[in-house]
Amino acid sequence: MLDKLNDPQREAVKYLGGPCLVLAGAGSGKTRVITQKIAYLIGQAGMDARNIAAITFTNKAAREMQERVGALMDANRLKGLTVSTFHSLGMRILREEARHLGYKPQFSILDSADASKIISDLLTTTDKQLIRSTVSQISLLKNDRISPDTALVRANSDGEMHLAKLYRAYQDTLQAYQAVDFDDLIRLPVDLFEGNEEVLTKWQHRLRYLLIDECQDTNTTQYDMVKQLTGITGHFTAVGDDDQSIYAWRGANMENLRLLSTDFPKLKVIKLEQNYRSVARILRCANAVIANNPKLFEKTLWSDLGIGDPVQVIEARNDEHEAELVAMKLLAHKFEAGTGFKDYAILYRGNHQARIVETQLRMHKIPYTISGGQSFFDKAEIKDVLSYLRLIANEDDDPAFIRAVTTPKRGVGNVTLEKLGAYAAERHISLFAAVYEEGFVWQVQATQYEPLKQFCDFIGRMQFEAPRAPAGELLKQLLDAIDFETWLYDSDEPKPAETKWKTVLELVDWVAKQGENNGKNLIEISQTIALITMLQGRDEDEVDAVKMSTLHASKGLEYPHVFLVGCEEDILPHQNSIESNMVEEERRLMYVGITRAQRSLTISYCGKRRRGGEWQIVQPSRFLRELPGDDVRFSGRLAGDKAEGAISKQEGRAMLAGMLAKLGG
Ligand code: ATP
Ligand code: MG
Repeated sequence: MLDKLNDPQREAVKYLGGPCLVLAGAGSGKTRVITQKIAYLIGQAGMDARNIAAITFTNKAAREMQERVGALMDANRLKGLTVSTFHSLGMRILREEARHLGYKPQFSILDSADASKIISDLLTTTDKQLIRSTVSQISLLKNDRISPDTALVRANSDGEMHLAKLYRAYQDTLQAYQAVDFDDLIRLPVDLFEGNEEVLTKWQHRLRYLLIDECQDTNTTQYDMVKQLTGITGHFTAVGDDDQSIYAWRGANMENLRLLSTDFPKLKVIKLEQNYRSVARILRCANAVIANNPKLFEKTLWSDLGIGDPVQVIEARNDEHEAELVAMKLLAHKFEAGTGFKDYAILYRGNHQARIVETQLRMHKIPYTISGGQSFFDKAEIKDVLSYLRLIANEDDDPAFIRAVTTPKRGVGNVTLEKLGAYAAERHISLFAAVYEEGFVWQVQATQYEPLKQFCDFIGRMQFEAPRAPAGELLKQLLDAIDFETWLYDSDEPKPAETKWKTVLELVDWVAKQGENNGKNLIEISQTIALITMLQGRDEDEVDAVKMSTLHASKGLEYPHVFLVGCEEDILPHQNSIESNMVEEERRLMYVGITRAQRSLTISYCGKRRRGGEWQIVQPSRFLRELPGDDVRFSGRLAGDKAEGAISKQEGRAMLAGMLAKLGG
């Protein structure tokens, strides 16, 4: 097994003497070290899989890791292995320890839309900008492990005081709903561990060896969790690349890489230098771009996969033309190289760039899947159905109550709901509980009360069934009972209604599969779904389709042929980053994008682009000028005096060398 590794990789896999950090550039086999080490720990070091936890950044990465380990080792010996994101590990801990924190195990997990709604209510505003910035400020406080009380004590200005109070009110609301937000999934276990020795010890004994991928993107809370779980012995292997740190805006702190050696003086640091992913030209482009950032650690990266074709940088007239060029070049390349659609990825900075590309792909009949975009689980019809599941799991989830009770409309008027809300708020109970209070029954007319009570009774029956019945069946019953299909057709044109219903049926299939494969009941599945909505990644069946993805969501992945679109000033680097002097993080994003490509890379930019209804001339990204001329074929404005298609002497020599290398090996 170990002979599929180079020397430093093998050293990292076999090292059990204490904490270990593998620090290396993209494609150098860091993730491979983790998968192999899991197999090594079980197969050679005799550890029980139940005592090992591998933590990755996205659900998709977790799934892939599980598969890779599965290929190395018999399923029996992998039983109980934890491969998950920080958030799902946090969820698991919380579920088990909920009572220590005043939560019940079926707590709800609110997504960012729910969180924004609460903030919007507390602020009594609909100003999106204000809401968004408040949500993210609270999130940053949480990720830095600052509690509402601490925030209040530390407040230095009226603004900070206001924020701290809001944070307090927000947290109280969450508690009342028996709900947590994404940040709480990690923050709450960490707080619990800090204050409860017994619980911490239990988890330290359970998770005896930790492996952490993409370590550069951990935030303070996540870092603390690692420190707590690994205690003083520091039984962990972390792998990371400071040049790929792209989540600072979400509180990630790459200084954590440096902190490791302070916190764990015995830290063994291993560097990897050989890249096994990309041909030399792509790698040289990546190296050249990132060389313009100040360095935290010195790194070199080389590959012997041959020189490869020059990286192409093309200019399009506008965004539509750009998408068309990509579609056509992709088809031509596919035809020539005899590849499949699944060998291609189209990457972009922001989700909003996807739509134009999608249109062109459809016009050219190119199949595609999107990850990191508007998630399946974010669709309104899905959220409607999920609100029922949330309420069944946790009847204190007031936002879910409101959504479910009004979708479909069942004759419960706004006035009644307002009365219910006021009654519940006064007594600090949930809407659901208030329905059964005699005091409330007296306040409303029987015709108004009856549908409310029927609704709650129905939820009660479902709660009874949920732990017993197969998840898929139960969900079907639920949809029948509320006549959701009819409601969709009543409230929309036939075409969109049909699409929506199909989406819902997809959900039913998905839930049924989850129930069958993983033995989960409807309540457990509804908690898992909440996590999926946060980071991309529903199980996409392996279909032959082009992958479309944001740069952020492409982290850790690789594709034979990559198109990187919209490489312009104000997009990549993003306008906000230019204004706030965060171009270094954007450069790392560019580095991540380039290093996803294995064999070919095509980068595009536009001459002009429509912004707010007006055409604007746009500038090619500054990063394009940082690419090494010898490895790139430019077209358009950037071509300068190089005629398009001409091959320089150096290029010619390099191509010859590449051909010879191929012949030789
Ligand atoms: P990133 O920084 O993008 O996450 P990484 O360092 O995690 O990259 P991997 O994804 O582990 O890199 O490896 C990159 C590619 O190289 C994968 O296809 C992997 O299978 C392959 N690879 C890694 N190590 C070796 C090796 N020793 N021999 C052959 N192939 C390898
Ligand atoms: Mg990796």
